Amino acid sequence: MHTFQNYSNGRLVGSARSFESVNPATGEAIGLVPHSSPEQVAEAVAAARAAQPAWATRPDAERKALMGQLAQAIKDNAGMLAEWITREQGKPLGGVGEGQVPGAHFEVWACEVWTQVPASLDLPVEVVFEDATRRDEVHRKPHGVVAAIAPWNWPLMIAIWQIIPALRAGNTVVLKPSEYTSIGTLELVRVLGGLLPPGVLNTVSGAGDVGAALTEHPGVDKITFTGSTATGARIAATAARSVTPTTLELGGNDPAIVLPGTDPKAIAMGLFWGAFLNMGQTCACAKRLYVHSSLHDAVVAELKALALAMPMGDGMQPGMAMGPVQNRMQYDKVVALVEDARAGGATIVCGGNPEPGPGNFYPLTLVTGLADGARLVDEEQFGPVLPIVRYDDVEDAIASANRLGAGLGASVWGPDAAQAAAVAARIQAGTVWVNQHGAIHPMVPFGGTKRSGWGVEFGVEGLKGMTRGQVISVKK
Ligand code: NDP
Repeated sequence: MHTFQNYSNGRLVGSARSFESVNPATGEAIGLVPHSSPEQVAEAVAAARAAQPAWATRPDAERKALMGQLAQAIKDNAGMLAEWITREQGKPLGGVGEGQVPGAHFEVWACEVWTQVPASLDLPVEVVFEDATRRDEVHRKPHGVVAAIAPWNWPLMIAIWQIIPALRAGNTVVLKPSEYTSIGTLELVRVLGGLLPPGVLNTVSGAGDVGAALTEHPGVDKITFTGSTATGARIAATAARSVTPTTLELGGNDPAIVLPGTDPKAIAMGLFWGAFLNMGQTCACAKRLYVHSSLHDAVVAELKALALAMPMGDGMQPGMAMGPVQNRMQYDKVVALVEDARAGGATIVCGGNPEPGPGNFYPLTLVTGLADGARLVDEEQFGPVLPIVRYDDVEDAIASANRLGAGLGASVWGPDAAQAAAVAARIQAGTVWVNQHGAIHPMVPFGGTKRSGWGVEFGVEGLKGMTRGQVISVKK
């Protein structure tokens, strides 16, 4: 079986220990991933530190041009990268554009776009005050070495969200991919790394102790992490000891509220993908749906029709819309939450009964008859299950939306966009979409409130997060 390698200090490097990466559709091992030793983590950080000053002082136009070359390299390797995503993460190959399943090709296309956009942005010196006596400017400076911990749900796209703004702003990067989806991310970095000076972009892979070895390293100047709140809190505690800045994107439990008067047919497709994109394994998927009583049955019927119509299987086969749950840990969580709902008397409208067999396939599942407080409503399922809760008073739906600790995204659906936006403004979440859900954009800042984390990614604000401000104050 092929052993993949890390990219460190401009070279491909293996490790003494390795572990298998498994195809979630078949249960078969698809390659071996190196387990970086503590020394290798230290070497990667040292390489990044050594490369950073020259990278930061390189003319801005050159860094921009290199970012453009990275985007082109992603495009040139799109087929290979998409196949690794499907074989390792599970999402179907799919396509890009209207009417296409947003699968692995969509993820690679998003990598290209999220590389091009930061390349096009600038952080000019800002004059924040000037009078006859003084002039005060804010300059943006890179942090130095950025440690990035990437997750398994969008293993290439989220790695790109972390890598590209960091590099664009003059930092160097050491990235740790998820142990569940390392191969695709290592292949992406292999493609990109060859275009960059040695040490500018490095990876360390592993499971169990590599993430902590990286974030605890004193040579790290900034940490960016996407994953669970529990691990995010541990990383924040580590970072607090050395006062290292962090960006934490910690997932959520996004509510979606359907207001009275909404046309169920018109919103069904948007709601469906809002909840089931990537089998629901997306930080900003709708994870609990609050529907006004007058529409409840009609909305459930529309979603059920869509859920039953979506072909599910090995995403390497043509025509698949849905793939497996990425790993057994997540599959078991989904099973436990649905069984808890069933035991509590909820109605399983569709799904809920996975077939035995190879792969982590779990059918698209809709659950009604639940109330706030049920585990499936209150806990993030991060999988292909949607609890649908009936409400009578919009004030109650707003209170339900706001009662949990999560605050990443939310959506409000209604016939009058202005009225829906007024409800949206009362929801405690980093982003509230109106008549759409999860519609992220590379120019629009994205991040959580409450226990969904802090800091934002994307756009000028995201780029600023990869810098610190320095004031130059001149007496006249
Ligand atoms: P975790 O949040 O536990 O993240 C695991 C990653 O963090 C691994 O790369 C691990 O590396 C690293 N890590 C663990 N401890 C530390 C530490 N102290 N310092 C630095 N890095 C560390 O995710 P899981 O994959 O276990 O998933 C758990 C849950 O997280 C899921 O059930 C889901 O709900 C949520 N999730 C949310 C995502 C999102 O997009 N927001 C994405 C994926 C999952 P190592 O093992 O080497 O330490």
